[in-house]
Amino acid sequence: MFSISPVQPMNFGRQIIYVKRDDLLHPDFSGNKARKFYHFLHHDYSHVTQLVASGSAQANSLYSMSVLANQQGWTFNYYVSHISDFLLQNPQGNYAAAIQNGANIIDIGNLAYAENLAGMHLNDAMNYIVSSDPIYADKKHLLYIPEGGRCQYAETGIEQLAAEIIQWAQEQQKNKLMVFLPSGTGTTAAYLNKQLIQQLAQLSIVDVFTIEVITCSTVGGDEYLRQQFSELVDEIYYPKIINDGHKYHFGKLSRRCFDMWEKVCQSGIEFELLYDPVGFLVLQHYLNENANSATEILYIHQGGVLGNNTMLPRYQRKFSRIVQT
Ligand SMILES: *Cc1c(COP(=O)(O)O)cnc(C)c1O
Repeated sequence: MFSISPVQPMNFGRQIIYVKRDDLLHPDFSGNKARKFYHFLHHDYSHVTQLVASGSAQANSLYSMSVLANQQGWTFNYYVSHISDFLLQNPQGNYAAAIQNGANIIDIGNLAYAENLAGMHLNDAMNYIVSSDPIYADKKHLLYIPEGGRCQYAETGIEQLAAEIIQWAQEQQKNKLMVFLPSGTGTTAAYLNKQLIQQLAQLSIVDVFTIEVITCSTVGGDEYLRQQFSELVDEIYYPKIINDGHKYHFGKLSRRCFDMWEKVCQSGIEFELLYDPVGFLVLQHYLNENANSATEILYIHQGGVLGNNTMLPRYQRKFSRIVQT
């Protein structure tokens, strides 16, 4: 269903890094979410009629799941803890596209039993909703995907990503490779590291190829990310987490992030504005600290550029003097 995503060189600071273009995998299942939801496209889910999920109203996963639901003929209820007035009045980006695909986007504050959910984290609220709302009584036909696709199903598609990376390393003779990707839930990084370790061992080439997965947190900090790993894989498979001393708040607009985004987009590759700026800032810091390393870098472009339709206008409103595109 998906072909192998290409790898392209790109100048970054004083060196060349390689970019794995997972953003080109499929126009509707951009990048990361294409890998994560691959499982549902390749297994028989014909018993399902209802998809339920949750997250932010701008999320890339919202859009990808709306495509999936639409293709499969499932109803799709997506719960959010908040929708900004601006977005309600000016639907755009992932949010607007998901609605067009038939997604019902539900603010949990508007539910009849909202007071039962007061003060809960969205994940806990979801457990409550799925287990007690009568519209989900029929569990046989229900598919519930946790926030950000953080579930075992994600490993199927990431196994394929790991195989593609190993094949590329072999063809290009990249014997010492660092695979870098910014994390949200850490699902992709954790399964990717696990799969690379296992597949290199299966191929008996662990002595020839060193492929290390390094990631950074864009949400909640390093400790939170490590804890997310612990829910998915054994400790031996945890990817290395690096940071640049800054604390990043997910989706928060900053000049540093925007400047970095503009810089990397000069390569001719469009990156996205939530994860990639943080990823490149942290990577830049790491490369400055490890200047003489012989390791080559493969950066995973995890897609999500549809979200730029909402992020770029936000940046333009905030820094209206500087951003003129
Ligand atoms: C969802 C997403 C991520 C985060 O992936 P995790 O597996 O949750 O760490 C990163 N980049 C993009 C573009 C995404 O859409």
